[in-house]
Amino acid sequence: MNGDGRDYPVTPGADRGGEPVTGDLPRHRLTVVSGPSGVGKSSVVGELRKLEPDIWFSVSVTTRKPRPGEVDGAHYHFVDRAEFDAMIAGGRLLEWAEFTGNRYGTPREPVEKALAEGRPAVLEIELQGARQVRAAMPEARLVMLMPPSWEELVGRLTGRGTENEAAVQARLAEAERELAAAGEFDHRVVNADVREAAEHLLNLITDQPSEDAEHHE
Ligand code: 5GP
Repeated sequence: MNGDGRDYPVTPGADRGGEPVTGDLPRHRLTVVSGPSGVGKSSVVGELRKLEPDIWFSVSVTTRKPRPGEVDGAHYHFVDRAEFDAMIAGGRLLEWAEFTGNRYGTPREPVEKALAEGRPAVLEIELQGARQVRAAMPEARLVMLMPPSWEELVGRLTGRGTENEAAVQARLAEAERELAAAGEFDHRVVNADVREAAEHLLNLITDQPSEDAEHHE
């Protein structure tokens, strides 16, 4: 990951959750949380928000239509395809991906601002986006939220009732691909209990050694 000609060293130990020794690089505070659809990312991230209000959470842009209860500017910035593509063309997205027919992306500027202010920043994005962040910022910490079992994930995704059958099937296919890539992540956190998973995540973000973390490595 560090053979990319960057002019600062990338700590080999950083992928074990240790404090990178790359100097005062605020970018190392970026944490990417990925995981298959239905694993409970939103619940865990919501709990994390309550646990540590100092963490800054990125609000993505998406071409997906809002679900009932979703608020523009809070859950996502809902945009049309033309607006989204203009953001790509203008270099205003840190990463973006197409996921089950819609586009999702992370606005670059707010992330850079949060990191420049020294706030820990969290992105909740899918696998292709996580890979782009890893390539652009090797010191970012990548965490994959895992379901306790595949059956549990299928149950959660089909029981959610927010998508039609075809969309559920597409998300399950994506989920399989995402889980197959778990080994690319620095940490894997099993979401058996939302509160525990959020605490585990918080430990990783704040670099607290966590006994539990090792159980899932
Ligand atoms: P949903 O439609 O369920 O809100 O999100 C679908 C998937 O897109 C989820 O895995 C979610 O984490 C991911 N996602 C949300 N925002 C972004 C983003 O800005 N970039 C990328 N690459 N994925 C995102």
